[in-house]
Amino acid sequence: MTFEQQLHNETQLYLKKSFIGLKLLSLGLLLLVLINRPWYIYGEIPLTNMLLSMLPLMLSLFLTDTIASKLLPKKINSSYFSFIFLFLSWLIFTTSLLIYSASFIGAAITITDMLVLAFGISLFPNRAMFFSIIAILSAYHLSINVLYVTSELWFSGIRLLCFVVIVFAGHHVTETWFKRAIQKDIDNQRLIKELEELAINDGLTQIANRRHFDDVINKEIANSERTKQPLAIILIDIDYFKKLNDSLGHQQGDKCLISFANMLKNIVNRPRDLCARYGGEEFILLLAETDLAGAIIVAEKVKQQLEQLAILHPDSSVSDKVTVSQGIAVLLPGMSADELCHLADEKLYQVKRTSRNHFAY
Ligand code: GH3
Ligand code: MG
Ligand code: MG
Repeated sequence: MTFEQQLHNETQLYLKKSFIGLKLLSLGLLLLVLINRPWYIYGEIPLTNMLLSMLPLMLSLFLTDTIASKLLPKKINSSYFSFIFLFLSWLIFTTSLLIYSASFIGAAITITDMLVLAFGISLFPNRAMFFSIIAILSAYHLSINVLYVTSELWFSGIRLLCFVVIVFAGHHVTETWFKRAIQKDIDNQRLIKELEELAINDGLTQIANRRHFDDVINKEIANSERTKQPLAIILIDIDYFKKLNDSLGHQQGDKCLISFANMLKNIVNRPRDLCARYGGEEFILLLAETDLAGAIIVAEKVKQQLEQLAILHPDSSVSDKVTVSQGIAVLLPGMSADELCHLADEKLYQVKRTSRNHFAY
């Protein structure tokens, strides 16, 4: 996963959670306003007007992400829409209070302060939303001061400025941490993947190593015993490989191992099959759900394709190209992994003793 994808996912997750927090805070704030200045006692605002001004806010408190995504066209991001709707609902509510009674100035200013903080914390991963909402709230805060408390403009202006500077500084710090945490997460995921690959792959040929083979064969034997499906292995050893190293050099020997491993990788293409480097110039194929007849077809394929690959061997007694000997073993009931490999080894050495460039079963 790239940094951008992870950043997007984490941002969406954060916004979803922070919107719930913002709704709870809004509910608390709304109740506080209603309890603190009981308009019904002073008779400052007619009940219907009060209910109307509260309506968008009440709606936005019930607006969940699922409802929003069902109501909105797919192009509109439902989570950003919910934030904007809640924000506008607050502006409508506080403006209505101010229009009906100037005695709500204190409440409106306090609400605006709270909204700057709450929206600032909730929206910090999305720069555009963060900056626009904070800018609108600051302008709104200033207009309340200009319209209702002009005499205090200087001090409240300075207070607002300090407030916004603090929120912006907080935004910068938190955003840096947020991005750094995501980058670390991505680095860790990459390292774990690399380590996992190192642990199961052979460094030279990049196919599975002996350890991985041992893991898989035990699972496959257990599976074969349960499902009664056959299981076959082919142990493959390159003929006269020492002589190839001696005549062409180790580097050429390594290249031969890599080409041969790549060839094997392409031969075993069923999803549960595995080819692994078993030792120096020995390889092993694990063929799940394959009987002797199937394994013989695969061994034949290995022999033919290697001939077509035509890796030159100047010092082999059986051919002028690199050849292999193969031992095929099929799992019998009650056999362990060691016993199965031992059987394949016996068959392989039978070929080595008698002919080479062939297979036995
Ligand atoms: P045989 O036909 O009986 O199998 O003869 P052989 O020479 O292939 O067998 P032997 O076991 O005598 O030699 C195996 C050689 O494989 C010895 C070793 O130098 C070489 N070898 C093992 N691992 C590597 C490797 O990673 N790279 C290279 N270049 N050679 C390797
Ligand atoms: Mg060998
Ligand atoms: Mg050999």
